Amino acid sequence: SREWHLLSRPVGWPKPDDFALVDAEIRQPGPGEVLVRNKYLSVDPYMRGRMSAAKSYAAPFELGKAMQGGAVGEVIASGAEGMAPGDHVLHFGGWREYATIDAQHAVKVDPDAAPLSTYLGVLGMTGLTAYAGLLRTASFKEGDSVFVSGAAGAVGSQVGQIARLKGASRVIGSAGSDEKVKLLVEEYGFDAAFNYKNGPVSEQLRDAAPDGVDVYFDNVGGDHLEAAIGQLNQGGRIAVCGMISVYNNTEPAPGPKNLTRLIQTRGRIEGFLVGDHYDLQPQFVAEVGPWIRSGELKYRETVVEGIENNLEAFLGVLRGDNTGKMIVKL
Ligand code: NDP
Repeated sequence: SREWHLLSRPVGWPKPDDFALVDAEIRQPGPGEVLVRNKYLSVDPYMRGRMSAAKSYAAPFELGKAMQGGAVGEVIASGAEGMAPGDHVLHFGGWREYATIDAQHAVKVDPDAAPLSTYLGVLGMTGLTAYAGLLRTASFKEGDSVFVSGAAGAVGSQVGQIARLKGASRVIGSAGSDEKVKLLVEEYGFDAAFNYKNGPVSEQLRDAAPDGVDVYFDNVGGDHLEAAIGQLNQGGRIAVCGMISVYNNTEPAPGPKNLTRLIQTRGRIEGFLVGDHYDLQPQFVAEVGPWIRSGELKYRETVVEGIENNLEAFLGVLRGDNTGKMIVKL
């Protein structure tokens, strides 16, 4: 069985030398444990944070040990009651081919109800992030005009479409290529979209949202956040989900220069973590599941094959190689 270890903590952009793909023994499950053969692995931007030693909401990955992450696989041996070979589970033993895990930290998933990879994306953690951040943190209501950055990614593409399906007056997205921008408008039903690499975000957002923004869902930070504050309407709300533009910075990023606009608009900025909102999971699946099945909410996945390409897939997320959820298929 092969697994990815972190050898040294990256400074700036992670380098291949910071990691190693290592052979490991497969450990048979003890009482209360299951042995899982992984089929799909998740790579996510937050993993960059766990590669650093800095204190955060998730503990740093330990050097010289297998990294962790979301994964879906098939149980091949079980020492746990209620789990049997052939069951499929969602768990946290990613970055490896085989995982021996505490069954209490594994959730059974149904391969007949939805494709297995979707439990990592559109029906999983990134989907719930979109749902909770938009509806709870940003207090979205019908008639709001919504701007989302990282809009062709896993979280962002779902934010924009949930907003549209729940009656937003206007949905605006930004992404890093003309092809992604086209997808947002033509396939996902955004009213306007722009490529942030084609010109200043503030100017492009002003053109795309002439009547301002009631909700900004921030996946990017930096000049996107400053531009959104500049276009914020009275009573506007900004949900800070992520700030991918600064994750590889070695110096603290400068803050927005226009925060006084929050006083004028009585605007609110609030960060959130999906981990605090799992109480919404049943409601999320009940509401969004049918939209996915009917095709009203569309999704893409970018699938990279092979454990040996797990690291490249992760680096690809930071570069923007993905459209929708980045998945590693074993
Ligand atoms: P995505 O699928 O959106 O992939 C990341 C995308 O970020 C890339 O595809 C790339 O697209 C874009 N990107 C990379 N660098 C930059 C940059 N400098 N400026 C603008 N865009 C950039 O990932 P996720 O959907 O999984 O995550 C989206 C955000 O949500 C991340 O910030 C993540 O940390 C955060 N998150 C937060 C959670 C929480 O609980 N708060 C939970 C899950 C995710 P492009 O081609 O458009 O540049």
